[in-house]
Amino acid sequence: MQHFPIFLNLNGAHVVIGGGGEAALAKLRLLLKTEARITLCASAFLPDIMALRPRVTLVHRPLLGCDLHDARLVYAATEDDAQDARIRALGHKAGVLVNVVDNLDASDFITPAIVDRDPVVVAIGTEGAAPVLARKIKAGLESDLPASLGTLARIGKAFRPMAENLPMGAARRDFWAEFYDRAGPDALAHGGESDVRAVLDGLLARHMAQEPAAGKVDFVSAGPGDPDLLTLKARKLLDRADVVIHDRLVSGAILELIRREARIIAVGKEGYGPSVPQSEINAALVEHAGQGAHVVRLKGGDASIFGRLDEETDALDAAGIAWQVIPGVTSASAAAASLGQSLTRRGRNRDLRLVTAHDMKGFAEADWRALAAPGAVTALYMGKRAARFVQGRLLMHGASPAMDVAIVENASCPDETRLHTALSDLPQAAANLRGPAIILLGLPPRRAAQSQSKTELAL
Ligand code: SAH
Repeated sequence: MQHFPIFLNLNGAHVVIGGGGEAALAKLRLLLKTEARITLCASAFLPDIMALRPRVTLVHRPLLGCDLHDARLVYAATEDDAQDARIRALGHKAGVLVNVVDNLDASDFITPAIVDRDPVVVAIGTEGAAPVLARKIKAGLESDLPASLGTLARIGKAFRPMAENLPMGAARRDFWAEFYDRAGPDALAHGGESDVRAVLDGLLARHMAQEPAAGKVDFVSAGPGDPDLLTLKARKLLDRADVVIHDRLVSGAILELIRREARIIAVGKEGYGPSVPQSEINAALVEHAGQGAHVVRLKGGDASIFGRLDEETDALDAAGIAWQVIPGVTSASAAAASLGQSLTRRGRNRDLRLVTAHDMKGFAEADWRALAAPGAVTALYMGKRAARFVQGRLLMHGASPAMDVAIVENASCPDETRLHTALSDLPQAAANLRGPAIILLGLPPRRAAQSQSKTELAL
């Protein structure tokens, strides 16, 4: 390790930047996160820098030795090698640590990439070996560390003396783990900072009394199959769950992301095969959450669309168990994206219907006249078996046999197929489907997808 990482206290310290252009501004933006006194020396300054007065002091001439007499750090950021070298020499003469922007060898110290959740700050350095890698690590941390982490850490810090009432070791660690993992983020999301303090008091009382945590259920939308289409919230909850109860439609790639220690239970239907009765699913949710588990109920697509969500939330309400819903990408959105199509379009359709062609009693009726109207766009879920029924109803209500129909099977998955057909051929096209499919009535694929679909499935 050539560069030793330290966190330098810049409160009230003097930092000088030589330069007034983009390079100087980039360093300035970072330094403004501190309480340092900042001076910039240059013949000219960008308007963005000028606008920062009086927070920063501007000296309208090149940096001189006298500017450095009480400086803690100096940045040579003139974007001119000769000028930067001059500043470096002045810095060394004054005994000040120098950073020469974009010149690792000439610098005494380097500024790492940082992820800022003040007071939690992560610094990433690669000693100049791989700035791209540093950016990648930073991007990963930016998405992994909740924006609220800084606020939680600040409130947590103030609460540390109270937490000392817990015995040192595991008891105290468990308390803080529960606060940072679950209780803190939840309280902040739902009630803001004032709730966090109240939650800390309650949490401490519970840990002092050694009571188990209350269970809860998160209804997490798993999206159409591609794990990259999961929301960040979904990823985080999969990483924390004690028990995951999932529909069979949820892809293996997503199940891979579940915390190793979690118990995984498959329920629901597989195609038209046997299904676990809804009452048993409700009972399983209540049972596990009732025992204090953090349960993730993982549903395909968006949890609130044709997912029988209310039956499950009603059961939890009846049992007095807390729950929340995490929205996600529904399969109609993924299908449209694959087709390069927009689900609504000015002058074509101002509304979009999400329809299922069968319910628990069999084929389901819909507002067929509206669905048959020219320009109407409908996303038909669970439509494979009902294709002939839907075709008949639409034709009966005046739809053109030439109405465009796009079908996307296994949307967003590696085995996705797209095809373009007409209403007249819908039953034949649907008969060839094996996986879950969205039937988009009234929507032609855009040209690129259209030409591809011809080779995929010639009808
Ligand atoms: N909540 C889900 C829908 C559940 S109903 C959602 O928002 O997508 C199940 C139906 O969803 C399937 O019959 C099929 O029509 C559709 N579906 C689910 N996953 C799909 C996928 N990857 N590709 C195409 N259709 C899919």
